[in-house]
Amino acid sequence: MKQSQLFYRTLKEFPKDEEAISAKMLVRAGYIDKLMAGVYQFLPLGLRVLQKIEQIIREEMNAVGGQEILMPALQPREIWEKTGRWDMDVLFRLKGAGEKDLALGPTHEETVTPLAQKIIFSYKDLPKAVYQIQTKFRNEPRAKSGLLRGREFRMKDLYSFHINQKDLDQYYEKVEQAYEKIWERLGLDKITVKTYASGGTFSKYSHEYQTLCATGEDTIYLCEKCHVAVNKELINEQKTCPECGNKKLVEKKAIEVGNIFKLGTKFSNAFNFKFVDEKNQEQPIIMGCYGLGPSRAMGTLAEVFNDDKGIIWPENVSPFKAHLINLKKDVKDAENLYNQLIKEGIDVLFDDREDASAGQKLSEADLIGITHRLVVSEKTGDKIEYKKRGEKEVKLMSDKEIIKLLK
Ligand code: ATP
Ligand code: MG
Repeated sequence: MKQSQLFYRTLKEFPKDEEAISAKMLVRAGYIDKLMAGVYQFLPLGLRVLQKIEQIIREEMNAVGGQEILMPALQPREIWEKTGRWDMDVLFRLKGAGEKDLALGPTHEETVTPLAQKIIFSYKDLPKAVYQIQTKFRNEPRAKSGLLRGREFRMKDLYSFHINQKDLDQYYEKVEQAYEKIWERLGLDKITVKTYASGGTFSKYSHEYQTLCATGEDTIYLCEKCHVAVNKELINEQKTCPECGNKKLVEKKAIEVGNIFKLGTKFSNAFNFKFVDEKNQEQPIIMGCYGLGPSRAMGTLAEVFNDDKGIIWPENVSPFKAHLINLKKDVKDAENLYNQLIKEGIDVLFDDREDASAGQKLSEADLIGITHRLVVSEKTGDKIEYKKRGEKEVKLMSDKEIIKLLK
């Protein structure tokens, strides 16, 4: 992609109406645009990052047997009355044609349960797991942290259906492992901790995945030996590490990037969703739900990986793999390299602009934060100046070496 053609504009300064550093950076660098508090539009750079995050999540959900579906945001009142959640604070309620009461989905247990009920009848139909990556709506009272807390935001929500508790427990563990892989692929594994939270009526614990971050909204209590934590709501009942009994838990700030929960029969009972077992007896379906916020994960990455110059994306989610910057008067040499990189299938943003100064181009590149920076200039002859965002070392490399590095 040529930068002269890219649909974006960077701002000279940080926007004044943003509090979170991630939102300041993402807006200033031309990733997202604020329509109103808690509601953002994704520009090409932003959508690329979001889609990379969502693709990683999708692959790991498919790997644990999740089947992708897509459920509607627009929903009838009746399903929310069945579960007693029509009056919940964050639910956006609206009137449809004919004065019909509608809601915008903040989560999808109310749609997925009756949907599965049309498909699952017997133990032979179980287990099943379905997920979607979709836009959610919540009327959050405080939406001041950019993508970290949206009123309209992206969520991956997986739901699983089982014949008994044991089967749910086994699947829950598989999903835990899938989540660990996702944090690793997003570059968040070293700072994301499995956090014990209360489990409701059906199981002792649920789990949140909390990314350690000094500006995070949540407070957790970390066991530095096990790298797990206890959340604030649970800490009065669970004062020691649930894994090793360690009494010394350290208070930390964090951002919740995921949340997994054993729902048991809560929703299957509400919809009277049963299956017939091997003895032809009716039994309630046992459910699990597993949430993860791709747009919040994107905000989290920008919140934790930055310096005073801009964002530092982990390679797997960088909007482009490389940022090629031409500082020569004649664009020809850089253009040749650009064409070579494209031919090799390397995703590159090419700063081909003639009306921008060298200083402007380099500081914009730091702000945008693409992982690999390539500079073609008069200074370097037929070599290319290579630098990785966030690192100091600059290397001179040939075309061939660059291609080898980036392929
Ligand atoms: P929180 O406690 O932060 O409000 P939650 O417990 O309500 O989150 P869930 O209902 O479990 O969140 O949603 C699953 C995931 O969706 C969360 O782990 C988070 O990653 C994401 N998420 C939830 N609310 C928002 C929001 N307002 N904006 C962006 N992402 C969100
Ligand atoms: Mg929570």
